[in-house]
Amino acid sequence: MAILPRTEFGNPILRKKAKTVRRAYLATDSFKALIRDMRQTMRRADGVGLAAPQIGVPLRIAIIEMRPTDTRPGIGRKGPLVIINPRILSYGARVQMDWEGCLSFRGARGKVPRALTIVVEYMNEQGEVIEEAAGGLWARIFQHEIDHLEGTVYVDRMTDMKTLMTLSEYRVRILGKKQT
Ligand code: ZN
Repeated sequence: MAILPRTEFGNPILRKKAKTVRRAYLATDSFKALIRDMRQTMRRADGVGLAAPQIGVPLRIAIIEMRPTDTRPGIGRKGPLVIINPRILSYGARVQMDWEGCLSFRGARGKVPRALTIVVEYMNEQGEVIEEAAGGLWARIFQHEIDHLEGTVYVDRMTDMKTLMTLSEYRVRILGKKQT
């Protein structure tokens, strides 16, 4: 297994539309190795999602996993889930503002409005097409990662840039931790 080097904001690959994955690719060793490495890279970075362009691979693949992390201690566990060629079929009317960070933009947090609920369609690791109704943080992670496949990053979605802050300020001001 390998921890893959991550692309960061400013890298043009994060601004490009990723390519649709063919079902036949799912049977290859290269796909299996990619998924394994993406999972490990996401976990090692304490992230809840990682899209292939974030490790320099321009394919419509992402992995999402909800679990308590240092900056989201209270969240439940769900996944990991590999999503291939995902698309959002519909958005619920309610929009929620919440904090987001990105493994491609280290040490920053900002508030991003997202649909509270979505219906999403994707192919899973086994090549099955799944339709899923998602809500809350799970829906937010889907939207963040699917944006990456379109060349969109979370700061593009921010409506109040004054909420953008460094992770150390976020820890003190939002999580209420002591200044270090
Ligand atoms: Zn991201």
